Amino acid sequence: MKKILVLHTGGTIAMHEDVDGDVEQGAQNPLNDVQFDLPAVELVTEDIFNLPSEHITPDNMLALYNRLKNAEDEFDGVVITHGTDTLEETSFFLDSTLDLTIPIVMTGAMRSSNEIGSDGLYNFQSALRVAIDDQAAKRGVLVVLNDEIHAARFVTKTHATNVATFASPISGAMGMVNKRKILFFYDLPNKKTYPISAVDKRIPVMKAYAGMDGHILTLLAEAGIDGIVIEALGAGNLGTDAARGVLELLAADIPVVIVSRSFKGIAEPVYDYLGGGVQLEKAGAIFATAVNGQKARLKLLIGLENKLNTNKLNEFLHEF
Ligand code: ASP
Repeated sequence: MKKILVLHTGGTIAMHEDVDGDVEQGAQNPLNDVQFDLPAVELVTEDIFNLPSEHITPDNMLALYNRLKNAEDEFDGVVITHGTDTLEETSFFLDSTLDLTIPIVMTGAMRSSNEIGSDGLYNFQSALRVAIDDQAAKRGVLVVLNDEIHAARFVTKTHATNVATFASPISGAMGMVNKRKILFFYDLPNKKTYPISAVDKRIPVMKAYAGMDGHILTLLAEAGIDGIVIEALGAGNLGTDAARGVLELLAADIPVVIVSRSFKGIAEPVYDYLGGGVQLEKAGAIFATAVNGQKARLKLLIGLENKLNTNKLNEFLHEF
């Protein structure tokens, strides 16, 4: 019989609506003590945190990493329940750091436990079904909600309230949960994972906009940041004032990572003018492949905590 570790961290999936319709935390996790219609499986459940996911920080992600790094010795799979607002970040952090082959599946809910059409129990059951499926092994961290299976590498929350919120804009869903079958459509390229023991770096994310003020970047440099991610325009370009700010950051040896603020596609150095991607890259900015700003931030954090040199950091941020 398979043995699955279930870690509850909080989020709407663990919450309920009060008499006024406001969603709040309760003392008991509504997912505990529910009987599921599953093949014989042993569940070992731990309420590791009970936090709305906006309160989750890299320290919590590190605690999950430490709890899971040897999970393979004892368990055949892991399910983590989590608030949906930062689920993509925790899943990406674990995917980039854990060197495990067992299925690691994260899930959450958009509607709390006593709301009409609540999706929590259903998503939890789907996540358990995926975690006990042999096909789910060696795929990194998976995110299962609303009958879809997504790779942590590509998934993002796309809608503030709809149950069909998680999507992988670049790659599409990796698989599908059906009534009886679980289907996987593609495999991911292999990638290296990086162990981690600290998450202390200060790395802000800034979105570029028309007329972006470069002075704000200079102020950040003075505030003592360890690196910065900029969600640049289109394929990874900036206006002239912002570009000058970036050049100052690079001159001060502060790593600058560029992603696209566009919802789909990737940032690549294409344009050769002040602020164009070609000149930003020549000046030392790193173009991260196939990640949004919040994920690029975690990659830079993991890379800096691993003390990767410039070449290795470039390699890591280019890999997807
Ligand atoms: N605000 C909630 C959270 O992320 C949203 C959810 O879980 O769906 O904790």
